[in-house]
Amino acid sequence: MIESHTPWHARSTGETLQDLKATSTGLSQAEAEARLKIYGANRLPEAKKRSVFLRFLMQFHHILIYVLIGAAVITALLNHLVDTLVILAVVVANALIGFIQEGKAEKAMDAIRQMLAPHANVLRDGERRSVEGEALVPGDIVLLEAGDKVPADLRLLSAHGVSVQEAILTGESVPVEKHIEPVRADAPLGDRFGMAYSGTLVASGQGKGVVVATGGATEIGRISGLLSTVETLTTPLVKQMDVFAKWLTVLILMLAALLLIYSYFVGHYEFEEIFMMVVGLSVAAIPEGLPAVLTITLAIGVQAMARRNAIVRRLPAIETLGAVSVICTDKTGTLTRNEMMVASVLTPQHLFTLDGTGYEPKGVIRLEDAAVDASEHDILHELARASALCNDAGLREHEGVWTVEGDPMEGALLTFSGKIGTDVRKQQAEWARTDAIAFDSQHRFMATLVHDHESHACVFVKGAPERIISMCKDQRTAAGGVEPLADVYWSQQTDRIAALGQRVLAFAVRSVKPDHTVLEHRDVEGTLTLLGMVGMIDPPRPEAIAAVGECRGAGIRVKMITGDHGKTAAAIGRQIGLQNPDQVLTGADLDEMSDEALKGAVVNCDIFARTSPEHKLRLVTALQSHGLTVAMTGDGVNDAPALKRADAGIAMGRKGSEAAKEAADLVLADDNFASIAAAVREGRTVSDNIKKVISWTLPTDAGESMTIVLALFLGMTLPLTPLQILWINLMTAVTLGIALAFEPTEENTMRRMPRPRNESLIGGELVWHIVLVSALFLCGTFGMFFYAVDRGHSVELARTMVFNTLVVMEIFHLFFIRNIYGASLTWKAVRGTKVVWTTVVVLTVTQTAITYLPPLQAVFATESIPLLDGALIVGVGVALFALLETEKQVRLAIQRARAPAYAGT
Ligand code: ADP
Ligand code: MG
Repeated sequence: MIESHTPWHARSTGETLQDLKATSTGLSQAEAEARLKIYGANRLPEAKKRSVFLRFLMQFHHILIYVLIGAAVITALLNHLVDTLVILAVVVANALIGFIQEGKAEKAMDAIRQMLAPHANVLRDGERRSVEGEALVPGDIVLLEAGDKVPADLRLLSAHGVSVQEAILTGESVPVEKHIEPVRADAPLGDRFGMAYSGTLVASGQGKGVVVATGGATEIGRISGLLSTVETLTTPLVKQMDVFAKWLTVLILMLAALLLIYSYFVGHYEFEEIFMMVVGLSVAAIPEGLPAVLTITLAIGVQAMARRNAIVRRLPAIETLGAVSVICTDKTGTLTRNEMMVASVLTPQHLFTLDGTGYEPKGVIRLEDAAVDASEHDILHELARASALCNDAGLREHEGVWTVEGDPMEGALLTFSGKIGTDVRKQQAEWARTDAIAFDSQHRFMATLVHDHESHACVFVKGAPERIISMCKDQRTAAGGVEPLADVYWSQQTDRIAALGQRVLAFAVRSVKPDHTVLEHRDVEGTLTLLGMVGMIDPPRPEAIAAVGECRGAGIRVKMITGDHGKTAAAIGRQIGLQNPDQVLTGADLDEMSDEALKGAVVNCDIFARTSPEHKLRLVTALQSHGLTVAMTGDGVNDAPALKRADAGIAMGRKGSEAAKEAADLVLADDNFASIAAAVREGRTVSDNIKKVISWTLPTDAGESMTIVLALFLGMTLPLTPLQILWINLMTAVTLGIALAFEPTEENTMRRMPRPRNESLIGGELVWHIVLVSALFLCGTFGMFFYAVDRGHSVELARTMVFNTLVVMEIFHLFFIRNIYGASLTWKAVRGTKVVWTTVVVLTVTQTAITYLPPLQAVFATESIPLLDGALIVGVGVALFALLETEKQVRLAIQRARAPAYAGT
């Protein structure tokens, strides 16, 4: 491209187009493809990743690992080489696990970033088309509207009320108003009003621009380093656990030192023996694997959610989702299919019905069950023309299948025009749009100003019925004249249509002078002629009905917040199965309520209609003041504050604006309510699994080390050798410890009440579990040791039996932990997962080898265990399981008896 030295922002729009060899109707597809080869994909250069080696080394950078390495060095100095090797094996195994999982987690995050890749609306071959942001080339014409993220650096060609939030480039959070005039060549970035820069957000208005730079050539591409911020996989709880593990390590080291001194001076053990023992027990007690396993659990959760079309943008959301107790959801497209069809047409004189399938512009028009000819009713044609000209969507046919580009509701209007017999393209070619007021959910209407070639000009307006009526001065007669508005007729008829669950939209028109080229709000207030209304059906999604039911079972209240009419909302709410579909609060009701009154009303009302985005913020706040954990969906640019305020902000991936996605914690790839329920289920699963990993690891570590501590205090023969304890720690941590991260969702996960907002996962219950399990472990190990000694077994054999008892108890403890909320003794629970059984098999094989193979016996100081005693060892495991299970059932029964009925449902 030949570039003059004038920067883009200082060139006029005409010059810019000329220099880019572009036209305002867009490039041809072929030209765009050719340019893509020259300029490359519109992608920012990727931040350089850390090298594989460095990433591996980083795995050793952890205080827990330093302690282990220290222990390895000391044991080596003391010439206990096998112990050194086992400790080093722990270190390397941990690093490997961390390394592999980090790679996987990074891949998962990359995939998610891919799924969130933005699209851009462009003109190609003169037609509006949605393309991937990466496919943009210089010269492309990009259409912008409020909520969009600017996909490349653009020189604006038209700007209607466009303001852009450029904080990402300038740090200034107040949106900048844009126009199309050139500015001085040396104007700073924030003052280049004719430009819209890649990565900034359109806060309001509608406009059009030509791409002047893509990829690394954009302003944002030049600010390198900005992208190297890599999100690490963590949540508040996992961070807490990490800190906890560090302090626990410090505590363990101090206790170990005390124990060393005590045993040496009071217990009169040989120094080297107890030193090795203290090292062994410290290594066993330190939960070195915990941070890595928790991260694996999160990574699996993120992937599971992505498979369910819920894309996690901020990781703490995984935890929050598991605790959600209220979901506030949009109606259109989330609970319903957003596949609209005009089913009723209301003119000042008649109520017609229409049928058809999908968006195909074919169907029969009926008046009181008799088919009518549309050409006999001029008003139908006028409505059809308004539908075609006050419209931003496009219909496309491919092999007999009709699809919509843009808003499905507007697509349905084009279909309607077609059914009436209006040629949409011809109308749009004849009447060129000169200006427009874009729809926004606050004003609930949209207006266009069109001119034809014979100096006629018209304003078409469509929007919510009561809003349009308030803008009209009269209505159309059958003969084409005007007559006074029949207010009562309209409100009765709209109520009737809305009660069927149809979304009602009104149309109005006004002729203006041909020199009128700029459309403003005052042009449409109180000056219009009402043409009629249409009612659109939008059936509920069957899977949303099921998901709402599932949420009810899970103690989660579902609330619908919609811009639609109250009657329409109530009808859909009833079909969807909301708990209380009879009470509807409208935006106007909310405006009259004080925050106090709202707080009182908000819990029991499930339907909020004719709301604007700012009502969402008030609703979230009111719900949160009850201590509820609130998930809120949103799609528009104005929804961002409510999404940020909600505990879990959820944006729509398809129809949602980039601004909403940017503010959200979670993005739904399919805009479907069922995906929210699935995300909650996965969130609960992740929380459960985190809890399971912790509840297995801490008591196990405590049980292992307490065995040694107690023996040292009693001054008795140690029931295990240091090497044996190190080995158990290594083997169980890399097998059993990780298995829990892969646990599937427990059967009753969505039949439990949500976790209270402030309940931490690490609470009194866990402490009790640690105490109970370590006590039982002690009984098991000491019982086995004394039994063996009593039988006259050698110390070596007694230790071998204790060694195996510990492993068996850990396996049974794992099976117990797998079902912390239900019964563990069901066929499904015992069948377990592949991961669980693999680890059990690996452990059994290694333990058998160590116990019975002479070379290994020499290393581990073990002896073959007689068959009966072997059976006894397994028996100890069974007994442990039975005791724990009984205790759990008793505890659950008490909890159930005490639990009050959930206040919110
Ligand atoms: P929802 O919560 O159902 O998505 P919206 O805020 O999108 O509601 O719409 C609220 C009302 O505004 C609709 O009931 C309809 O009457 C009107 N409306 C919606 N979209 C448009 C549009 N593109 N042009 C004109 N009016 C619209
Ligand atoms: Mg909407």
